[in-house]
Order: sequence, then C-alpha cells, then structure tokens
Amino acid sequence: MNNFKIVFSDFDGTLTYKEGLNPVFFDIINLLASKKTPLVIVTGRSLSWGHFLLTHFPYLTDVIVEGGGAIVTRSGKFITEECLVSHENVLRLAEFANEFTTEFPKIKLSVDSFGRKTDRAIELHDLQDGVYFHHIEEFLRAHNINFSTSNVHLNFWCGKVSKYLAVSYFLNNQKTLENECLFFGDSLNDQAMFKSFYNSVGVSNISSVIDRLEFKPTTILTGDENIGPFGVLNYLKKNL
Ligand SMILES: [Mg+2]
Repeated sequence: MNNFKIVFSDFDGTLTYKEGLNPVFFDIINLLASKKTPLVIVTGRSLSWGHFLLTHFPYLTDVIVEGGGAIVTRSGKFITEECLVSHENVLRLAEFANEFTTEFPKIKLSVDSFGRKTDRAIELHDLQDGVYFHHIEEFLRAHNINFSTSNVHLNFWCGKVSKYLAVSYFLNNQKTLENECLFFGDSLNDQAMFKSFYNSVGVSNISSVIDRLEFKPTTILTGDENIGPFGVLNYLKKNL
C-alpha cells in the first residue's frame, strides 16, 4: 500500500468531465481529506483561476497555475502569489503578445488571458483551421517563444517554465520527496511531469493524445470507467 504525501493533478480533462465539474470531483476531495492527503492542482489555467479555486474549495491550499509559471497559496485568510518567471520575461511576454495580435488580427487571445501573468492563451476551438495553427507555431518559434497545448488552450510564454519545474520547486520548499507523491494528467502539457516525475498516472482519455506523447505516464488507465476524474477516484481508492 502506498501512502502518498501529496497528490498533484492536472485540472482540465483530469479533474473535470465533459468540460465541467462533476460530483465525482467532490468525492475525490472527500477521499483525500479523509486520508489527510493534500491535493495540489497543477494547471495551465490562469493565475486568476488559481485564486478562484482556492477561494471556492477550502480543502485546497496551493494551486500551481499557468503551466508552472506561478503558485497561488492560501495561508489563513490571505491568498498570495509567487511568480516563478523573471520580471524581464513577464515584460517581454507582454510586448510579444502585442506583436502577436498585430500579426494575427483575427485570432483573439483567450478571455482568461486578461488574468494571466506568465503566459498567454488562445482557445483551441478558435484554431480549427490547421493553416492558422501552423503559422502561429512558426511565428512563436521564430520569436523564440515557448508553447504547449492543453485540452483547451494553446499556451505560450517566455523563459523556462514547466509543470515539473514548478512541482520540484514546490516539493523542495515542502521538504517532501518526489517519490512520495503522485501526479495525474491527461494531455500534452503534462509531458514534463510524465517525463520526469516518479509516479505519474494518465487517466484513460489520454488515449486521444497517446501517440503524440514522447514521454508517457508510468501508469496508463484504460476503459470508459477511468475517464478523467473517475479514473483519478478509482486509482486513489485502490492505492491511497
Ligand atoms: Mg488536461
């Protein structure tokens, strides 16, 4: 039996089901609370989303957001942010975002880009046209801008940012060893975790991107009963 000290999890497609929160999310929280095991969401969502999650889910005390660009923490009544990207790169990104919107006037940044600090996002459903996607990728590469794709967004940023780097930094501060923890994910932007994190689990809907993953989770769940949060709950029930 494992006794994981911290459970890390991606949010979209891993803790959400069909683009929404399902009651099973609360079952996961309740199970983890009964075992006194913290849940740290590690998401590509924005800093303002991190604030939302901490405000509305009292069990959460830390959320890693913007693909590892920042950590939002609650201590007592206060919610604070720690930016893991240099001030220079935050400024450079803001300048580049202006260049981007000039180059692609028909492509809007995601509405939640307003609440972003260390990255920007474009809704994938605005990029149905494969030609645009190709041009955008070329433009980002030409400007030395990093990018990644989640279930919902194409995110781009300046500097060295990854979910794994942020989780390692967080664990170092917590004086907790990586091999005592667990990570759940489902998509391309979880690859840094799949590549380097000791215990990683892919929920079964990862099958839609599995051929595009250079690095795969150490455990891959299968079957409709293990889609997203259902897979997370089933795995935790067996292994926590
Ligand atoms: Mg996801």
